[in-house]
Amino acid sequence: MRTISHFIAGAAVEGASGRFGDVFNPNTGEVQARVPFATDVELDVAVQAAARAQVEWAATNPQRRARVMFEFKRLIERDMNVLAEILSSEHGKVIADSKGDVQRGLEVIEFACGIPHVLKGEYTEGAGPGIDVYSMRQPLGVVAGITPFNFPAMIPMWMFGIAIAVGNSFILKPSEKDPTVPVKLAELMMEAGAPAGVLNVVHGDKNAVDAILTHPLIRAVSFVGSSDIAHYVYQTGTANGKRVQAMGGAKNHGIVLPDADMDQVVKDLSGAAFGSAGERCMALPVVVPVGQKTADDLRERVVAEIASLKVGISTDPDAHYGPVVSSQHRAKIADYIRIGQEEGAELVVDGRDFSLQGYEKGFFIGPSLFDGVKKDMKTYQEEIFGPVLQIVRAESFEEALALPSAHQYGNGAAIFTRNGRAAREFAARVNVGMVGINVPIPVPVAYHTFGGWKRSAFGDTNQHGVEGVKFYTKVKTVTARWPEGEVGDSSFVIPTMK
Ligand code: NAD
Repeated sequence: MRTISHFIAGAAVEGASGRFGDVFNPNTGEVQARVPFATDVELDVAVQAAARAQVEWAATNPQRRARVMFEFKRLIERDMNVLAEILSSEHGKVIADSKGDVQRGLEVIEFACGIPHVLKGEYTEGAGPGIDVYSMRQPLGVVAGITPFNFPAMIPMWMFGIAIAVGNSFILKPSEKDPTVPVKLAELMMEAGAPAGVLNVVHGDKNAVDAILTHPLIRAVSFVGSSDIAHYVYQTGTANGKRVQAMGGAKNHGIVLPDADMDQVVKDLSGAAFGSAGERCMALPVVVPVGQKTADDLRERVVAEIASLKVGISTDPDAHYGPVVSSQHRAKIADYIRIGQEEGAELVVDGRDFSLQGYEKGFFIGPSLFDGVKKDMKTYQEEIFGPVLQIVRAESFEEALALPSAHQYGNGAAIFTRNGRAAREFAARVNVGMVGINVPIPVPVAYHTFGGWKRSAFGDTNQHGVEGVKFYTKVKTVTARWPEGEVGDSSFVIPTMK
């Protein structure tokens, strides 16, 4: 059996803890590799290596650091097919979707290629007599990222792409469910010219996460995962004096007004609810049609659309989506479907009995559709993270707007309409962090920033874009005076500008 290694100080390092996790192939249900779980000592070795590398790396001028990013981008494009195949084999998403995962991360690397421009500070000439003031952004030192299983390429690149470009060194603790691509990314970063120790990958479970959250040399921690763990990471990391951003779960709503282009809505919904087996934090698992006629029409079309979906192995080019990540996750989704029925929602399409011929042990689950879902139901309030679409009927725009606004999660929401005024009103008033107008999955482009509200994110800064640069740097402001002539008298009063 293949054993995955940590990647520390530019070299593969075998795990010494004796504790391992299984890495499955979700298509077949077989264990394909094992991944070591790091001890505190192994984490410390990586942090010390990162701290040594960071000094030289921070002293490298920004343009040279950007050149490493340009080369890293070229290498990823070179290896795109291989990366996507590995990613699909551990995650279960179809190859085209895996390429999208890599590509969306690559777009953050493209942003990082422009780091010399973004890092330029501010300057005020003549802030007082002979006085100039300027500010600069300096790296924090060693920083860390803890990432979820569902985007094993994109989310690590959101984090380390910017952190490294601004002059930090990085410890990545990827998901133990699909850890191979993150290691490949670290190898490529070195091949691109980053010194050994600038990007390290340490695998593990809660133990490794706790070691990161309490290590005195780690200055900042970026986390993406489920909300309870995000909250724990935020509280523990900040209590240990670290800067922390922790993105959590989601339950995104799509509001459908009666004037929407229904053909387009159904296509968009289908991709956003069932694509990647619903394992996306920006999936649209809740649709809110406004008015009974809209709801009936939508339901009929969605049922027909579901019948046309093909669930298949991740290498099947015709499959719309593949298996979910684990048998436990499959069981959890099936359990939510059972609870939804018990709560009184109408199960219009039941995907639980789906089985793929020849792959009976794979973690497949068919698409499911609920109608008549109410806001007090557990299955509405919680994140299912599977191919399950819930219809929540609303009578008015105000009632529809109130649903995502009051929900515990606030990652994203979308509205489908031809009415510009209604769309504008929705975008302005809805209580979530990212909004789509006739866009089902409004993941912002790399040079904007990604982040939800409420229990979808803890901390003040978003991922990537300028907010990412702020998160991984600290500001230093210099007030400089170059006086002419005699030395002046001492002043014991705080200086003010007259
Ligand atoms: P998860 O919370 O189980 O795991 C995330 C990370 O935390 C992993 O690296 C894991 O090893 C670690 N971890 C697991 N248990 C831990 C514990 N008890 N203590 C400390 N660390 C622990 O999440 P997941 O299942 O890998 O990913 C799916 C979740 O991530 C969903 O809730 C999804 O909505 C969310 N997500 C959010 C965003 C976002 O940007 N808001 C993006 C992607 C995924």
